[in-house]
Amino acid sequence: MSSIQALRGTRDILPEEVGYWQWVEATARDILGRAAYQEIRTPIFEQTSLFERGIGEATDVVGKEMYTFSDRGDRSITLRPEGTAGVVRSYIEHSLHAQGGVQRLWYTGPMFRYERPQAGRQRQFHQLGVEVLGSRDPRADAEVIAIATAILQALGLKNLRLALNSVGSRADRQAYRGALVDYLTPYKDELDPDSQDRLTRNPLRILDSKDPRTQAIAQDAPSILDHLSEDSQRHFDRVQQSLTDLGIDFWLNSRLVRGLDYYTHTAFEIQSDDLGAQATVCGGGRYDGLVSELGGPETAAVGWAIGLERLTLLLQQIHAQPKAALDFYVVSRGDRAEPAALTLAHQLRQAQFKVDLDLSGSAFGKQFKRADRSGAVACLILGDAEADAGTVQVKWLGSGEQEAVAQGDLLAQAEAWHQRLAAARA
Ligand code: ATP
Ligand code: MG
Repeated sequence: MSSIQALRGTRDILPEEVGYWQWVEATARDILGRAAYQEIRTPIFEQTSLFERGIGEATDVVGKEMYTFSDRGDRSITLRPEGTAGVVRSYIEHSLHAQGGVQRLWYTGPMFRYERPQAGRQRQFHQLGVEVLGSRDPRADAEVIAIATAILQALGLKNLRLALNSVGSRADRQAYRGALVDYLTPYKDELDPDSQDRLTRNPLRILDSKDPRTQAIAQDAPSILDHLSEDSQRHFDRVQQSLTDLGIDFWLNSRLVRGLDYYTHTAFEIQSDDLGAQATVCGGGRYDGLVSELGGPETAAVGWAIGLERLTLLLQQIHAQPKAALDFYVVSRGDRAEPAALTLAHQLRQAQFKVDLDLSGSAFGKQFKRADRSGAVACLILGDAEADAGTVQVKWLGSGEQEAVAQGDLLAQAEAWHQRLAAARA
């Protein structure tokens, strides 16, 4: 019988890689915690209409990429393609706005989009994102960008570029849309088919088409930055000033858009040269219109999402897999030694040591070989003689030195042993 394989566009994250994921999560959790962001966990599936309204029917995500199905009760359900819509639904449903002030939220988890799988692009992928709800202050835009930058920097990433733009207010965009359509219409036949379609439905999105011919045409299109109102310009100036104050470099890219009506003002992406075609690690912006679009009160908001597959691909290029080294590898052989080894390993783990117990029952020679490969600092050896005497042989795997120790001493003087292990590891 043929064996079953993971679906196309999905991947197992195996133990040899999971250390990167844990490191990213721990780093982000730490940085977000210090900035007073609170984690929120929303369901992985939602009513389809949430995404249709929240992301917009004219987008690729809703138009072509959603995993939508009817459940057994004939409800239309969609596996979330992104995190913002669910967070905003929850914010409205639980009246988080009624708590007053600004809500700073973050989330992480799997997202689902029916896309053509390639490096850095999957059908089940993972994002870590933040949403700041309830502030139109340009410092909020700068803060979320600074936090994304801090997370990526703490992970040791270099060669990152922050691309920044403003898509203005809804009114600014309406005026710009006219100018853009006037410019693009004479080139209509030369645009890629998707962009031709968007010319009437969502012309701003033509600016970030990945088609080279369309890109060349878009190069000379009028700039949204020439269509900002005074208020929008002031907001954008303040965002830029705040980033400069924070020492964060950026470049202006007036073709960077989020093509939906409720996106406003700031749009940004953090890109890497080391990712090939899927260069964007983090994308975000302000979405002052979304909460009201989904039935909540007028609420200004800004956020971003980091693609964790792309981030871990970058980490693998520059770091070896981080892993906490073992303290002890316990080997044993004999009717009395083997149960004693189980007990000792358990007690050592409770005393905060990191311990692997060899369960093979094979000859000592084979167990020693595994101890050598385990990366442990020391091997603990128990034969029946040690079990009877209540002792254990400690073999330091670096130097090969060996000493007999009373099991009780190992546990009673755990602190001193932790220090000896740290010294031997250094
Ligand atoms: P792209 O232009 O690469 O398709 P996007 O604009 O669709 O990106 P967003 O919806 O802004 O992406 O999502 C934020 C981030 O999530 C992206 O910058 C990327 O790092 C990651 N991401 C999006 N789609 C995928 C996917 N299918 N597989 C892996 N990561 C993804
Ligand atoms: Mg996409």
